Amino acid sequence: MVREIKIYPDEVLKQKAQPIEEVNDEVRALVDDMFETMYKKGGVGLAANQIGVLKRVVIIDLGSGKENQGKDKIVLINPEIVAMEGEQVGEEGCLSLPGLYKKVKRAKYVKVKALNYDGEEFEIEGEDLLARALQHEIDHLNGVVFIDRLSPLQRRLALEKYKKLKRKYEKKMASQR
Ligand SMILES: [Zn+2]
Repeated sequence: MVREIKIYPDEVLKQKAQPIEEVNDEVRALVDDMFETMYKKGGVGLAANQIGVLKRVVIIDLGSGKENQGKDKIVLINPEIVAMEGEQVGEEGCLSLPGLYKKVKRAKYVKVKALNYDGEEFEIEGEDLLARALQHEIDHLNGVVFIDRLSPLQRRLALEKYKKLKRKYEKKMASQR
């Protein structure tokens, strides 16, 4: 089922998500809905906060919207960054801040420990785009969005621009109803 994406500054995007106690069918149904929603909306990652669920669940598919969509689905339940190295600067966007793209500084490499779809513990290492996606999505679980990673001035400018984009987005959404 495609869920509604929560749009910034919705409170749920500023709150900390709670750990999953048991990876059961309910959690897997949430993950399935998240993939369906992400593919419909056209993103490469989604955190449960973004559909209004304060649970520590993240999905990533760098092939989203391309011909290899669905081939490398990454499900991270209770993810924790256990190592990070280096630095990279690259443009980010977010389904919860529609239309806004800003350059964000991130670690170049991260290692993340998490549970998978079957509840088994695993580790994933990522560089460049994958490292960026992992950091962006895990930030969501801690109530942090990408503009919070900008300098205070850049963040203020981004918010001013976003206000206009948000009005446009809301108009578009209203006309689709
Ligand atoms: Zn996001």
